Amino acid sequence: MNDYSQKVRDLFDGQFREWSLARDNYRQLDDVRVRKVSCNRFDIAVQFNPGRITSSAAKVDARSIEARPCFLCAKNRPQEQNGIPFGDDYQILINPFPIFRRHLTIVCESHSPQRISGSFPAMLSLAEALPEFVIFYNGPQCGASAPDHMHFQAGNRGFLPVEKDTGNPRLCKKAGTAGTVELWLWEGYGRGMMTIKGADSKAIAGIFGKIYERFALTQPERPEPMLNILAYHGNGQWNVHIIPRRVHRPACYFAEGDEKILLSPASVDIGGVFITPREEDFNKITAADITGILSEVCLSEEELRTLTARVL
Ligand SMILES: [Zn+2]
Repeated sequence: MNDYSQKVRDLFDGQFREWSLARDNYRQLDDVRVRKVSCNRFDIAVQFNPGRITSSAAKVDARSIEARPCFLCAKNRPQEQNGIPFGDDYQILINPFPIFRRHLTIVCESHSPQRISGSFPAMLSLAEALPEFVIFYNGPQCGASAPDHMHFQAGNRGFLPVEKDTGNPRLCKKAGTAGTVELWLWEGYGRGMMTIKGADSKAIAGIFGKIYERFALTQPERPEPMLNILAYHGNGQWNVHIIPRRVHRPACYFAEGDEKILLSPASVDIGGVFITPREEDFNKITAADITGILSEVCLSEEELRTLTARVL
């Protein structure tokens, strides 16, 4: 697998020269405010990022999606936006509304629905080709603002707390091994999460497929079981964090007045950086709000133990 790091650095340089909207939005990250909220055994970084309001508040019901031109299709993208082809099916683009200092959107060449089944091997290939990035997938009902167009995102390594927390033996514990692949389960992390580690991409995809099928049985009415996934590659192995979901948006998203917190949890939030597009939410959100939102939208640790039992 080729390393795309230099190509991506060149892409950012070129886009910052030619595309003022992207350049300005990345420059504005210097002014983004962040505060750390300690929640018992883990910390969450809350980021006040008004540029993300369009994504956080995106209407993703079928009727709203049909009524708008797809912003990920090549014909509708901004004229200034360039990409790097990846394999036969994907284009690597810079995300013009960043959360990360280096934030990519990796879009499928064709307008096909957001589905991880069949796309998971591409996700592992991207992680290997972009070792400076965390690749993440938001399911069609788990934070993707274009559920009708297959895409991943990627952000520079070293930003999401989940990367560091993976090495904390009090939080992330080995649950089993199958060949060279390991399954790890999280404890005291406020959200049911599992991690697959290993150097064999086919074996990792095999374990993922089993978990996916088992989880799909519990949500038969959905286009796919609700998931967020984060993957990265280093020292010859993949780390794949899988977060099964039960709810798209928490009750506080729909509340009025003081009760309202406009936060639409996706991979980045569950990875430890809560994005609040509204300043009032940034100022008021508490540890109790954060743990409440995580437990509302994710499965419990007990449910994850059941889901992964005897899967290896
Ligand atoms: Zn499209």
